[in-house]
Amino acid sequence: MIIPHVSKLNDEQLKEVTDIVGAFGCRVQPIIGAEQTIYAIIGDERNDDMVTKLEGLPYINRVDRIQSPHKLMDARSSLASHRVAIGSVTLGTELFVCAGPCTIDPKNPNLTIETAHAVKEAGAHALRGGVWKPRTNPYSYQGDAKALLILMEASRQTGLPVDTEVMDEEHLKLAIEAGVNCLQVGARNALNYALLRQIGQAITGRDTAVLLKRSIHSGPVQEFIAAAEYIVQLGNPNVILCPRGTQPGLDGYRNHPDESIVPLLKERTWAPVVVDPSHSVGKASYVASAAMAAVAYGADGLCIECNVAPSQGIGDDPKQAVSPAVLKDIITKAKAVWKIRRGEN
Ligand code: PEP
Ligand code: MN
Repeated sequence: MIIPHVSKLNDEQLKEVTDIVGAFGCRVQPIIGAEQTIYAIIGDERNDDMVTKLEGLPYINRVDRIQSPHKLMDARSSLASHRVAIGSVTLGTELFVCAGPCTIDPKNPNLTIETAHAVKEAGAHALRGGVWKPRTNPYSYQGDAKALLILMEASRQTGLPVDTEVMDEEHLKLAIEAGVNCLQVGARNALNYALLRQIGQAITGRDTAVLLKRSIHSGPVQEFIAAAEYIVQLGNPNVILCPRGTQPGLDGYRNHPDESIVPLLKERTWAPVVVDPSHSVGKASYVASAAMAAVAYGADGLCIECNVAPSQGIGDDPKQAVSPAVLKDIITKAKAVWKIRRGEN
């Protein structure tokens, strides 16, 4: 729908608009109102280039699209009945929990192995753990491919599927070869379209899933959905949306907790949403409330940093990892919230 600044386009303006939409296989249909005439675009109005050209005209106020530009992620798309499974859990059928250390310390494999057993015992369905880390400070620990062996050993011992972040093609190749079940796209790379495409291509024809974090900077909901569309359009629809808090942070929290985005994502897309409350709040003692809020808002699952000895961990663990006992308590309460939300009490 084209909404001009003027009350009605003159003949010259109407011709210009008609020519632009015509070049994209569409036509315009005026809708005459008492005060203003607006112009419906008849045809496929999703083309961004067409909309940009129209919005660039000085006499056009804006173009409102009825159809989503994200045709595959859209809640009305042919993928709407697709369900994403991680290990034995089909997301949406029960509360899914992924937990584990922020970062796998290659010098202390036992810490990850013990944590893996403990998160399983606490009720988690999948194990997370950073092999390669996107660190703000270039002198901080950056990760080590050796940690991938530890993650896969932990998976073998516990039977838990695993999630780890990949930041480039080499990580992607190694992670897929090792059998990583879920590739994480971090908040810093969430809009790295070249990486999103590489991941989409690499997982085509596999049952690998992608946990796509929301960009660290608070962007529009559509921006987040469009990032997922980059992956899904290459053929594998196993994408999970992961809000994790945005910058600027809320004073006192590491980020601005954004679990309230869940209903919007649920309305606009068919994709499962797994919230990461750990990075949202950045402090172990706040994680439980953020987790409950996320489930109350409609999340299908949680991704939580947990370590048997947070103070011995590296990366975020000393500050934001919860103990396995706290994880167990969070899972019990979050399941109760899940039931209340679904009217199952
Ligand atoms: C992480 O999961 O440890 C991580 C770095 O996450 P994010 O990209 O959300 O900061
Ligand atoms: Mn972390």
